[in-house]
Formats: sequence, C-alpha cells, structure tokens
Amino acid sequence: MASCSNCGARLTNSSHDLCLECFKKEKEIGYRYQVIKGRIAETIIEELFLTLDYNVFRYGMENSIPGVMTLLRGVRGDVAQNIKRMPDFVVQNKRTGEVFFVEVKFRADGEFNYEKLGGDDYPYRNAHIILVSKKHIKCATVEELKNGKEFQYLGSRKEFETDKETIIEFCKFAVQFFKDA
Ligand SMILES: [Zn+2]
Repeated sequence: MASCSNCGARLTNSSHDLCLECFKKEKEIGYRYQVIKGRIAETIIEELFLTLDYNVFRYGMENSIPGVMTLLRGVRGDVAQNIKRMPDFVVQNKRTGEVFFVEVKFRADGEFNYEKLGGDDYPYRNAHIILVSKKHIKCATVEELKNGKEFQYLGSRKEFETDKETIIEFCKFAVQFFKDA
C-alpha cells in the first residue's frame, strides 16, 4: 500500500504522492511563498521611488484591510476582482506633482504580458506596470501592453525622470533577493 511521502499516512489513491492534508499544507506554503516574493518586489520598488524623491502611497486594499486578499482567495465576481487588482502604489513626482498608479509584478523569468494582467478586464487602465525579474526592473503602461509593446527598462521611462544609477543599484538588490527564486 502506498503511503504519503511526507507523513507516511496510507494513501487511498496510489497515484498521489502526498496525503490530502500534506497536499493542502504544501499548497498553502507555496501560496505564502509567492506572496512573500511579491512583497519583496513591492518593497524594492517602494524604496526605489522614495530614493528618487517621490511621494509613495501604498494603495492596494491589503493596506486598508489586512488579510482581505486571503479572504478573497477563490472568490469570483467583479467587485472581488477589482479589489484584488487594485494597484499597489500611487507615486507622486514631488517636483511636477504628477501622480501615477503603479502595479508591481514579480516574475523570476521576466515573462509577463497583457493577457496575464487580465486583458481587457483589467480595471486600472491608466496604471504603470513595473515588472521585477531576477535580473531587471522594467516598466510598461497598460495601453502599451495592450498594443503588444515590450516592457522597457525603468531607467528609460521619460515620465518618471528616473536616475539610471539609482535604478541599477536597486536592480542589484533584486538580483540578490531573487537569486534562488
Ligand atoms: Zn501526509
């Protein structure tokens, strides 16, 4: 009789490797691990904009109602979707006063596109998406992604008046934090 490779419990279905309890636990830890990586990426971007002398406001619902994302896991419907997708930050250029919605995505391989964002259902049409990978920090607007354009290096984006040297420093942080991701 097959047994769970983690706890040794007998398995009723021998095509599985883990018992249901261990399977659930592993899935939960996998989910938390993804959440942690996302938070690290957000923190890197938050600190980057602060260093560039922007005002940074955490915007997502998670900051207003801690735990709401966990609560909404698996919940369907427009309202739940819009809450889950609220951009992470509002950043403001202190000099010009201009404000931007910023959504941070971490993808180890740097693969991200319009469909993965949610396509035409993505509600925040004027957001900037900042893609943090193991190697780069890139950025694109929702419109650009919709039109099939590639992400550009954040340092090349005119609207943020970014300082390439600072961005390179923060890219090094990303490389360091995500080298095993
Ligand atoms: Zn088990």
